[in-house]
Amino acid sequence: MIINHSSIIELNREALANNLKFIRSLIKEKTQLSSVIKGNAYGHGIKQMVPELERLGVNHFSVFSSFEAKIAYQYTEKNSTIMIMGDITVEDKKWVVRNEIEFFVYNIKTFQSLLAEAKKLNKKLNIHVELETGMNRHGFDEEELNHLFKLLHENKNHFNLKGICTHFAGAESSTNYKRIQEQHQRFSKSVERFSKEGFKAEKLHTSCSAGIMAYPEFNYDMVRIGIITYGLWPSKEIQLMYNVQKKTELDLQSVLSWRSSIIDIKNVKAGEFVGYGTSFLAETDMKIASVPVGYGYGFSRSLSNTGRVLVKGKRLSVVGTVNMNMFLIEVTNVNVEVGDTVTIIGKDGKQTINVSYFGNLSEQLNYELLTRLDKSIPRVVI
Ligand SMILES: *Cc1c(COP(=O)(O)O)cnc(C)c1O
Repeated sequence: MIINHSSIIELNREALANNLKFIRSLIKEKTQLSSVIKGNAYGHGIKQMVPELERLGVNHFSVFSSFEAKIAYQYTEKNSTIMIMGDITVEDKKWVVRNEIEFFVYNIKTFQSLLAEAKKLNKKLNIHVELETGMNRHGFDEEELNHLFKLLHENKNHFNLKGICTHFAGAESSTNYKRIQEQHQRFSKSVERFSKEGFKAEKLHTSCSAGIMAYPEFNYDMVRIGIITYGLWPSKEIQLMYNVQKKTELDLQSVLSWRSSIIDIKNVKAGEFVGYGTSFLAETDMKIASVPVGYGYGFSRSLSNTGRVLVKGKRLSVVGTVNMNMFLIEVTNVNVEVGDTVTIIGKDGKQTINVSYFGNLSEQLNYELLTRLDKSIPRVVI
């Protein structure tokens, strides 16, 4: 296979199937699963993940923006639904309306402009009203709802109320417990006001990955699940909590591996510096190999002199600074050749470097690290 790149991202189909089973074991059968594929499917690739998730029975996808929605649209089946949770660009308004894409409504002005578009195109908008319940990021607070209700009454024939939703400000940490309880109370109160006004939403939804584990009572009709789909924990605390409660026998499995190969091997004499500057001094004679991956592809510069990779089942150290397109590893006592596989994330023999280990070393969240993986790296499903 020609990969046309210096590294490759492998996506493990079995791990994904396992994670879907895990998720479904935590929610009721009637609760719809919306797979969150924002951030290029958390770095895994929208193009690759959408068909795989559909094969596993997912038919609802959440993205952040209209431009992600357009990518997802290319790869989804006819009966799948796409929901935009954030930005609809001015240029994309027509496309969103014409293709009946679902989207969050979180302010009057954007909603009005989309209503105008719907009337022009003789279409109905598929809206999810987002409520501001305490995160103070997006959505209608209690006061603004009056204005929204007026608008909804005036435009009754131009929208389907697909959902009413909110987002919790940090379900992955118990320090936010009180705030989330308050958010839920505000949510319930506002949902009641919708019924008093005569509006009934098809679905209520509030929960993300951490939500379904820490607050299953708030799952409602649909859950928006990102990080655990890919086999990663939203936080250490949730992982610990889950392992104590063990609500299912299943465990998460990481979907993504990232591999490259050695392109050169050099002998360095004791007393020489390695790489740019003076951050690494060879204290003995040593053998150094170069790997054609750098911060330009998402291998953080903070891994300079601290990162680890796997070659031939052995854990090896990154030496010197990480460059834009390259980093160096010490291979003194290992029998390696040019062309040998270097595992940056994933399993090699008995050793594994998981995303969170890699993330801890580079002081990045799982979420952050994954979305920084360069889009041009080929993603292949195995
Ligand atoms: C990202 C996001 C999610 C999914 O969060 P995970 O922690 O990855 O499950 C759900 N809802 C909203 C509004 C989001 O932005």
